[in-house]
Amino acid sequence: GKKTCIITGASSGIGLEGAKFLAASGDWHVILAVRSFAKAEAGAKDLGMDPSTYTVMNLDLASLNSVRNFVAEIKAAKVKPDALVCNAAVWHPKDKKPRRTADGFEEAIGVNHLGHFLLVNLLMDELKQSRVVFIGTETHNPGSIAGKIPPQAHLGDLDGLAKNEPMIDGVKYEPTKAYKDSKVCNVLMMREMNKRYSSGGMVVSALFPGCIAESPLFREKRGWFRAGFPVFQKFVTRQLVSVEEAGRRMADVVSSDKLSSSGTYWRWNGQDAEATARENVVSDEAMDEARCEKLWQISSDLVGI
Ligand code: NDP
Repeated sequence: GKKTCIITGASSGIGLEGAKFLAASGDWHVILAVRSFAKAEAGAKDLGMDPSTYTVMNLDLASLNSVRNFVAEIKAAKVKPDALVCNAAVWHPKDKKPRRTADGFEEAIGVNHLGHFLLVNLLMDELKQSRVVFIGTETHNPGSIAGKIPPQAHLGDLDGLAKNEPMIDGVKYEPTKAYKDSKVCNVLMMREMNKRYSSGGMVVSALFPGCIAESPLFREKRGWFRAGFPVFQKFVTRQLVSVEEAGRRMADVVSSDKLSSSGTYWRWNGQDAEATARENVVSDEAMDEARCEKLWQISSDLVGI
């Protein structure tokens, strides 16, 4: 039979395109785990996806209860996912004050990290032999050209997170830093999971798919940024890709035998379909094993497992 892949936030952007490629391969049934059923259905239809190749299920990562309900449904249906892609993310660049999830977490950390953290942990038995994939961003790394643009990611010793303050390092709320910090958490979690579970057969990896300026993630950005950032990415970092190409890359990391090494953070050496995947560097903060483990412990406390 077919393999099953769960993709969170697959109602638009890279997640939906990735779902399209996996479903079209004929080898995969895709579960679109989304907060808006109607939007995912419409999006899948727009891309011409065959309705027999996917299932839409409700998952709102801004609510731990919703995560628990989703996992209960998966288990009740006896679904054994061969892959899980932690793709959903929010970025609210114009916010002056933090938004909160149902459980009172700042939204970027709550949705992008803690919701996925609980999801993975509750599905641990089902995922033992599976691939788990995180979507990283080059801007998580202050050592990269794109990551140098302020505000830079900085997690420090995670004191703010431990106290459930809006910012992980306890500084004043800054929405773009909150987004980048949450994406560092995705890399830390990937590395910690690799350490804990790869010897048991799990393949855990992350990818930087390229910069996709046309994706809805940039919906709240206006003016110079929408005009300038894509040009910067195209000519300076040479990482501007279409949302379709980004989806193809996601599908590759999920399914390709060539991209099956655990603990790897992938990037591509170009902007088009001929580009090949290679191992990417993670930021200094993300390299630190003690921080990986500390994040795991604090996150366990925050989500109550
Ligand atoms: P999109 O905004 O299109 O995708 C994000 C998805 O997350 C949306 O489908 C959104 O759902 C979903 N989502 C948001 N909040 C929740 C929630 N509470 N519960 C469930 N789902 C939720 O942007 P992209 O496709 O660009 O982003 C996908 C991933 O790629 C992210 O992890 C992002 O960090 C990463 N990335 C993006 C880059 C880019 O250049 N765009 C570069 C590098 C990484 P809804 O439709 O309901 O809003």
